[in-house]
Amino acid sequence: MTLIHGADAPWLDSCDEHRNEEFDGTDMNIAAKPPLTIRLCGPRGFCAGVDRAIQIVVLALKSYGAPVYVRHEIVHNRYVVEGLEAKGAVFVEELDEIPAEHRAQPVVFSAHGVPKSVPEDAASRNLFYLDATCPLVSKVHKQAMRHNRLGRHVVLIGHAGHPEVIGTMGQLPEGSVSLIETIEDADAYIPTDPDNLGYVTQTTLSVDDTAGVITRLHERFPNLTAPAADSICYATTNRQEVVKQAAPGCDLFIIVGAPNSSNSKRLVEVALRAGAKKSILVQRAAELDWNEIGAISTLGLSAGASAPEVIVNEIIEAFRARFDARVELAETVQETENFLVNRELRSIELTAADMAFVNG
Ligand code: SF4
Repeated sequence: MTLIHGADAPWLDSCDEHRNEEFDGTDMNIAAKPPLTIRLCGPRGFCAGVDRAIQIVVLALKSYGAPVYVRHEIVHNRYVVEGLEAKGAVFVEELDEIPAEHRAQPVVFSAHGVPKSVPEDAASRNLFYLDATCPLVSKVHKQAMRHNRLGRHVVLIGHAGHPEVIGTMGQLPEGSVSLIETIEDADAYIPTDPDNLGYVTQTTLSVDDTAGVITRLHERFPNLTAPAADSICYATTNRQEVVKQAAPGCDLFIIVGAPNSSNSKRLVEVALRAGAKKSILVQRAAELDWNEIGAISTLGLSAGASAPEVIVNEIIEAFRARFDARVELAETVQETENFLVNRELRSIELTAADMAFVNG
């Protein structure tokens, strides 16, 4: 991990949100503030799949006008959902909630992916749909289908009820996938044919916990077949790795993210295990309990893959109002992944202003 301090990173000084203010004697409040180092993780926040999904809704609104329907939260973040609602998106849980008079308007499927029955249902209702499933979730679908095609029973490691798990299980006929959540599940699992199993995982799991489950499954079922490539995605892996490296010595680690965001919740656990004294999940700065936060000198800060950068900035500003805060960037890798939007939308111009509601 590289630690970049303000003095070594001109962009930190030139960036309003992260600038370390020098005390110039004009504001006595600054002198009274206790010092705080904010270890800001990089990479953090939006991944390429989330960015793409939000872009798809924004571009669909520009291209087809409001309303654009979205099945399920496009990504697990209320701020993002409300920002898109303000632009004219309408969120529904099921397709039958779309009024008959709006059936010519597009409906977008969320980044988590959907069971095969959903596009089939859309087609039977003559709905025009745009699939915002992350390409890396689609890759897991293909890995599961490949196991199935080769006659293997699929073991899916993931969290029951998560939309991605529902979507992956829904790629295959009922009864051809078994869900395993924990090592205890792996111990208790009794397959029909132990020599003919293939596994995949949810993309947003804890890298370390999942390795433990896979090891246990391999011990019990030596012929268990792995997918062709890791199912846990690059964004999950990178965000967990930098939090793991930044956590030791932190009095508090804040993860910006929603309670229903799997990858955000995993980051809270990773920070604690890696040595942060305390770790909390926060959706907005207004939720911060300053009495509970108390006297701290080092704060770790990261954001789940569905949490917008504007909220990270909001949290930093909230700390700068109470502390003489110095931001240092804890960086492991720089991500360059970029996923193209659906073909129908590629000719529509996407401007910085279109995405300012999440990117600032
Ligand atoms: S967390 Fe990973 S799988 Fe999920 S949307 Fe982002 S890149 Fe895709």
